[in-house]
Amino acid sequence: MTYPISILGTPELRKVVEPISADYPDLQNIIKNMWDTMYASEGVGLAAPQVGKSISLFVVDASFGADEEPELADFKRVFINAEIYDRSEQTEPFTEGCLSLPGVHEDVVRPSSISIRYLDENFVEHDVTLGGYAARIIQHEYDHLEGKVFTDRLSPLRKSLLRGKLMGLGKGKFKASYKFKLPK
Ligand code: ZN
Repeated sequence: MTYPISILGTPELRKVVEPISADYPDLQNIIKNMWDTMYASEGVGLAAPQVGKSISLFVVDASFGADEEPELADFKRVFINAEIYDRSEQTEPFTEGCLSLPGVHEDVVRPSSISIRYLDENFVEHDVTLGGYAARIIQHEYDHLEGKVFTDRLSPLRKSLLRGKLMGLGKGKFKASYKFKLPK
């Protein structure tokens, strides 16, 4: 089943998540539903706060990038209790969007590569250094765990230019082809 996606302005998007343990209720089902939700809305990543769950969990499918980065062909991963513990000094801009901010696309500058420790869906620990699309999507999703969205990272000028559009999101002034939840 799919969850409705929380739109900017809903309080759960601004909460810092809690880590989870393997016995978290219904976890495997939640993960399955997050995949279903992500694919139904044509996203490449989805974080638990976007579906109203304040837990340290996100999913990423970066296989779309395999044309340019062949190693991404099977990059479909679940990240539980992730910790980004190193970031490259080198940064780069890339145009991002977010299912919680439909219709908003902006260039965001982020580190080009990251090192991350996380647990997969079987609670097996991984420790990897990634660049390219994977690093970009993971950093975007990781921000959600800390109650941040990508527009928080824009310059003050860019943010002020976007202000009206961002305010409009919470009032339903956008088009989306997926189930969503507006702030009350
Ligand atoms: Zn997002």
